[in-house]
Amino acid sequence: MSEEELNPWAIAQQQFDQAAGLLQLEEPMRFFLREPMREFHVTFPVKMDDGNVRIFKGFRVQYNDARGPTKGGIRFHPEETIDTVRALAAWMTWKCAVVDIPLGGGKGGVICNPKEMSKTELERLSRGYIRALGHYIGPETDVPAPDVYTDAQVMAWMMDEYSIMTGYNVPGVITGKPLPLGGSAGRGDATARGGMYCIREAAKVLGIDLGTATIAIQGYGNAGQFAHKLIAEMFGSRVVAVSDSRGGIYNPEGLDFEATFAHRQATGVVKDFPGAQNISNAELLELDVDLLIPAALENQITAENAPRIKARIMAELANGPTTPEADEILFQDGVYVIPDFLCNAGGVTVSYFEQVQNAYDFYWKAEEVYERLDEKMTRAFHAVHEMAQKHGVHNRMAAYMVAVHRVAEAVRLRGWV
Ligand code: GLU
Repeated sequence: MSEEELNPWAIAQQQFDQAAGLLQLEEPMRFFLREPMREFHVTFPVKMDDGNVRIFKGFRVQYNDARGPTKGGIRFHPEETIDTVRALAAWMTWKCAVVDIPLGGGKGGVICNPKEMSKTELERLSRGYIRALGHYIGPETDVPAPDVYTDAQVMAWMMDEYSIMTGYNVPGVITGKPLPLGGSAGRGDATARGGMYCIREAAKVLGIDLGTATIAIQGYGNAGQFAHKLIAEMFGSRVVAVSDSRGGIYNPEGLDFEATFAHRQATGVVKDFPGAQNISNAELLELDVDLLIPAALENQITAENAPRIKARIMAELANGPTTPEADEILFQDGVYVIPDFLCNAGGVTVSYFEQVQNAYDFYWKAEEVYERLDEKMTRAFHAVHEMAQKHGVHNRMAAYMVAVHRVAEAVRLRGWV
């Protein structure tokens, strides 16, 4: 077998090309939608606690704004590359379109290791990134949010820095803010919650009883943690395995959320949890469970391990966890994949609700957020499921077809192509 393509940007373009072919998109449209409209590369100084200045590199990609301002998170990661940010920005474009919110797609990233930085250094890094890019973002143009290793506190610093640059308070420049600064109720667990609504619908169409189902979750960041919590609350299924970047744990009797969470708070990792067996991240993916939830990083399920995936449903809370070759294998093996930009669209959907609330300066109760989120996710899920049935393609391709069709329609209506 030839070497598998693992560059996320090459993968994103390859997936798009296939969808564009199936949709029979005209040539100029294909060229336009397979590239980002704008991208920014910034280099900026940050004063470190020891008094030295370090120079950091960051990116912001505004992939496509035909349907509205570009929207998407900012990642702080030591291995960040422009290609990863490009792919993630493209996926944000399709994500906003598949849930039908009036936004385009974007993404940002800074090459840094937040685990080795103090809180004050992270604050100066966050503010430095906004000083470098502030003139190119805004509530009507490009609205960032949290992503890998960024959180509500980082959003607060960034919103504050942007407001200082502007001269007045601009809560709508960024979403995922803390509640006292114009955040939305329900934003914290929105990515996981949106995924739960998809899982509920998938179980319905497949005739799976979630009450007796077993589940493995890879990743214990915002998405993975809340998935663990919500599964217990909403379905009562048994989460038998979870992991973080340092390894995983397995207990066929089930892992209690509160106890696992408390253990991780106390020790910093999930491994060595009393009563559970330590397993590797790779082993977790291949467990004999009903549901697998990749909630970590890209390229976890590849042509190499895809044949050994035993789950009936794979619900992707991570962005880009599965390679195209793995997709084909899973499709042939009958694994029902709820693809990333559908499954994890709950985060950006509640970000959109946050923007709406900021614009009105009037805030909703958590129940109202959940209800609106449920409606958006359920509708999107069925649009994708029906497209897959109709065209005999896997769900990722169906999601692409739904999303790319909508973005192309907006481009045409604007008269761009
Ligand atoms: N970072 C999240 C994602 O990948 C949320 C983006 C947003 O809320 O703008 O979907």
